Amino acid sequence: MSETPHFPLPCSPRELSAMVLTHSHLDHSGTMPLLYVSGNADLYATQMTLGLTELLLTDEINLSGELLPFEENELVKMMKKSHPVNMGDEIELNNDFLIKFVDAGHIPGSISALIQAEGKRILVTGDINTVETRLLEGAKFDVTSLDTIVIEATYALQDHPNRKDTERNFVDSIREVLEGDQGKVLIPAFAVARSQEVLCILEKYGVNYPITIDGMVRAASKVILSNPSFIRDYALLSRALEKAIWVRGRKDKQRAVSNTGIVVASAGMLEGGAAIGYLDAFSQDAKNGVFLVSFQIPGTNGRTLIETGSYISNNGERRKAKSKVKFFDFSSHCGKTELWDILKKVDSSAKVYVVHGEPEACTSLAERISGELGIEASAPNNGESYEI
Ligand SMILES: [Zn+2]
Repeated sequence: MSETPHFPLPCSPRELSAMVLTHSHLDHSGTMPLLYVSGNADLYATQMTLGLTELLLTDEINLSGELLPFEENELVKMMKKSHPVNMGDEIELNNDFLIKFVDAGHIPGSISALIQAEGKRILVTGDINTVETRLLEGAKFDVTSLDTIVIEATYALQDHPNRKDTERNFVDSIREVLEGDQGKVLIPAFAVARSQEVLCILEKYGVNYPITIDGMVRAASKVILSNPSFIRDYALLSRALEKAIWVRGRKDKQRAVSNTGIVVASAGMLEGGAAIGYLDAFSQDAKNGVFLVSFQIPGTNGRTLIETGSYISNNGERRKAKSKVKFFDFSSHCGKTELWDILKKVDSSAKVYVVHGEPEACTSLAERISGELGIEASAPNNGESYEI
């Protein structure tokens, strides 16, 4: 990344007295320290979210510090102003402003915020998943009697394949490489949530081969393990992480490259991180597999590998992969059908604001809500204000 990014602010940070962070993903938390350059707001989030956010922001500052309008100081200030909350907790701000934290099912620690103020009930979903995964229970929130819902629309136009089918295809593909071809498998995965989800699947299906984890997945796993109450099957996760080989140096890496087994490494889109260091070794042999499990932004190395079979290697050269390359959709967002199942239960007198999606997805979902459910819905642009 060489261009200086643009960081729009919703208001002057000094005017803010409190903020709620729904989850740690950087498209939600990545600019938060900027609000502490001049501001001093209280920050509410789960302990899990706070731990993961600190980890991701520290990494962001280390990697792209010169491009950011804040430094570690602001992150330290932000963490000092943070207040951990639990699922189901309610906090009261300024007497008549209640916020309830509801499980969002998206990644460990993620919440939706139910706001009750001046007799109105407003649900801000944040990123949500109602489908149960190996790592998390699905979100089960109540959307009846709402005056307003602000809902995410990442997959408003697309359904995910059946989760169990995807798990089985994934495990079958891995076994084919390990047992059939005596090869090895590289699984580039997001450090937070997706890596742990993959490890839980492998453990659940009894895949008994050495599994090595490398990159930020190690630090993220430590944070996740230290917050057991957010995990659906903590025993499964801790068993999977106990069995895994945590790379601590060059020798562990060499062993992972030369022996039959599985490597789960960050980053999920093969843009830097530990995963790219394994890519040549795994992709240049037809016996092996490179299995992508995270969302791939167009133009990234991972997306190019899926679409063209070639990639930019660690030394900057474009190479053609000889190994099997596959993508598995283990999304942590509601698909089109799950979003619609939520919206069908919303009262017809409510208002719906559709956010967090491609403009086409947000607009199309808002139009469908108005057309088929007769509920007032819009897809606001950045910076627009609405009175509720
Ligand atoms: Zn997210």
